[in-house]
Amino acid sequence: MNYVIIGNSAAGVKCAETIREVDRQGNITIITDEAYHAYSKCLLPDYLSGDRDEDTIRIRNLDFYSQNRITTYFGVKAQKINPAQKIVALENGKTIPYDKLLIATGSRSFIPPIPGIEGENIFGLRNLDDAKKILQALPGVRRAVVIGGGFVGLEAAYALYSRGVELTVVEKLPQILPSQFDAKAAKILEKDMLCEGIRIITGNGIKEIINPGIWQKMFGKKGKGVRLEDGETLKCELIIVATGTKANTELVQGTAIKVNRGIVVDEFMQTDEPDIYAAGDVVETIDAVTGQRKLTPIWPNAVVQGRIAGLNMAGIQKPYTALVGMQNAVEFREIPAIAAGLTEAGEGLEEIVIENQAQNKYKKLVMKDNRLVGMILVGDIRQAGVYNTLIKNKIDISRNKEFLFKEDFNFGYFLA
Ligand SMILES: Cc1cc2nc3c(=O)[nH]c(=O)nc-3n(C[C@H](O)[C@H](O)[C@H](O)COP(=O)(O)OP(=O)(O)OC[C@H]3O[C@@H](n4cnc5c(N)ncnc54)[C@H](O)[C@@H]3O)c2cc1C
Repeated sequence: MNYVIIGNSAAGVKCAETIREVDRQGNITIITDEAYHAYSKCLLPDYLSGDRDEDTIRIRNLDFYSQNRITTYFGVKAQKINPAQKIVALENGKTIPYDKLLIATGSRSFIPPIPGIEGENIFGLRNLDDAKKILQALPGVRRAVVIGGGFVGLEAAYALYSRGVELTVVEKLPQILPSQFDAKAAKILEKDMLCEGIRIITGNGIKEIINPGIWQKMFGKKGKGVRLEDGETLKCELIIVATGTKANTELVQGTAIKVNRGIVVDEFMQTDEPDIYAAGDVVETIDAVTGQRKLTPIWPNAVVQGRIAGLNMAGIQKPYTALVGMQNAVEFREIPAIAAGLTEAGEGLEEIVIENQAQNKYKKLVMKDNRLVGMILVGDIRQAGVYNTLIKNKIDISRNKEFLFKEDFNFGYFLA
């Protein structure tokens, strides 16, 4: 059996490892357009800050591929797949035949169409090459602007700030972390970053990037910067674009495989083409809380999906049960925070909030039909695991609702 996996990250590596557990004989091939041994993208901010290096962001031992008898094509892009002939064509002209194929091509930075965005020293932060380019540019950088106040933008800002760069984060929406936290929770986290010395501008987008040629004409001296929608100009030598991601679905164009925002798969991670599976950031799966099909671009989901795909590719039928998104855990300066599931009020939802702004503590639990469906914890996140299990397993909380906010709340309350 020839198993071919495109993508050497959370989903691809887990899939290869799982196949090898089940099928000791089959040929496994991993193709990746990156030139590196598998590493964690979640640790890129730590690489940027200098807290980790290439060795300590790696997710498997150096002998992982040889131990598991995996053939690798590093630094080579898969250009096309041909489901009729069951081959993958690489950009170097080689073709690789498969019996079972996994597409685990992940996602890339979404670069918005801001005038001037193609200039120098403007980077996304999606892979190790991006991080290396940012570090290479740093010697000439005193000030940086991060476009986007989401999770990756704030982590990048904090990482560069810890290297002594003056940072401004610009978020178009009225709050930072708009997809994860509500306004009150975001305010506490924003305050935490401001105390550190990172400037945060919300409710104001970037109108244009003023590259050196235009800067010279405008101000009669060397420089570069951004102009905000309200007219303010910020001088900076480096810009990081963190305005979201886009699934890398191009490989399935021209095939019968259905794509919405991501590749559509069934519960066995199989696409519309027999013997082609997909997993990780590139797929849409059913959300554990809403039951709706959506992208769930977080590391743990990619790993579980890679494992389920691997089992099914190797002949063991096992369905995927969605996880509740826990990626929204942040801890920049001092205040830890986590959000999961539905975090904003909506039809049929009941929410209970306890807050102590002076102590930077905020807890919101969102319920529907006596089930917990979402949470935001800021300041004290010790009970995140318990709440997450209640959400994931849709446990009836009607008898225990009053205890949910107790400091010592745990599963014991359900057994009493
Ligand atoms: C800076 C940063 C911080 C993050 N922090 C967190 C976090 O704290 N918690 C969390 O849960 N998630 C986090 N994430 C998200 C997490 O990293 C992703 O969900 C995860 O990496 C998805 O894994 P994947 O295997 O689906 O795809 P990816 O990790 O995107 O890997 C896909 C790989 O396929 C390669 N590829 C694409 N197309 C081709 C092709 N045609 N041919 C060959 N190779 C190809 C890509 O180059 C890439 O190496 C973070 C992401 C970033 C960028």
